Amino acid sequence: MKPKSETETRIEDETAGKHSAGKHEAARGCRLCPRACGANRRGGARGRCGVAQELKVARAALHMWEEPCISGEEGSGAVFFSGCALGCIYCQNRDISRGERGAVISAEHLAEIFLELQEQKANNINLVTAGHYLPQVKEALVSAKRQGLRIPIVYNSSAYEKAEALRALEGLVDVYLPDFKYLSPELAGNYSDAPDYPETAMDAIREMVRQRPEPVFDARGNMTSGVIVRHLLLPGHVREAKRIVKYLHEEYGNRIYISMMNQYTPMPQVANDELLGRRVTKREYERLLAYAQEIGVEQGFYQEGETARESFIPEFDGQGVIAKKRRAGGSG
Ligand code: SF4
Repeated sequence: MKPKSETETRIEDETAGKHSAGKHEAARGCRLCPRACGANRRGGARGRCGVAQELKVARAALHMWEEPCISGEEGSGAVFFSGCALGCIYCQNRDISRGERGAVISAEHLAEIFLELQEQKANNINLVTAGHYLPQVKEALVSAKRQGLRIPIVYNSSAYEKAEALRALEGLVDVYLPDFKYLSPELAGNYSDAPDYPETAMDAIREMVRQRPEPVFDARGNMTSGVIVRHLLLPGHVREAKRIVKYLHEEYGNRIYISMMNQYTPMPQVANDELLGRRVTKREYERLLAYAQEIGVEQGFYQEGETARESFIPEFDGQGVIAKKRRAGGSG
């Protein structure tokens, strides 16, 4: 068996608070993500991400609503993980981001889910917000690849991740699909309680592009390697969105794709917020797209028509997880 690399060992230890080793260090708890909240997840405590140590998955199914080169004709094999380290106040997937929904499964069971999605002809395995389960996800990927998983692995993330943690995925992930939500620390503080988001996300995206430095597509137009950075335009924040698109374009040019999204859906928890309580207007979105064109963005995605509907938010009903669990007789 190949010995673990230093990065691999460190990432596993981060969840247990064992980094730097020693009994006193173990008491520090989980430091896996930038929150470094120190929860004793192995002891059953939930971290800022809303979950304890066990792998919890809310849905695993073919998903048609990603960028065309990710969904393709057959759909992307999306696996939605419970919990989220960022926790935006306007969260579009709040059902699962707080860690309440989902079934507890083993890493081996997760590997079986990947293989089953491949059997269903998924274009890829799309890991949605998996950063707080990195060691188990990595274990599942290695196992599934050994058992014949061949389709590309897409890592779909808020970009609120330690670059060092992402390094542990090198060679396992083919396509990175991060958000870039804010450049303004103030906005990141107000909406996600994470004023360090801009710096953290910049470092994370830099690491992703280092690993996958140019877009590659197969004969059907599906992306097999590369980075697509998404920005969800928020109501009243066109100026921030323009700054983000400008930054990405100047920093990476045609080495990445930029996906500008207008599908923001006001959720009940922000219904009374002056800005977040409404949808993005057609005019706001057009201003962003015109700006992207003006500064020379050539590799971009945009959304057409009336996309801001709750129907784009899938049901987190355990599809593809619970049924499989029964057959596999898994725990939880
Ligand atoms: S992954 Fe969760 S428990 Fe670990 S540091 Fe981040 S928020 Fe805390």
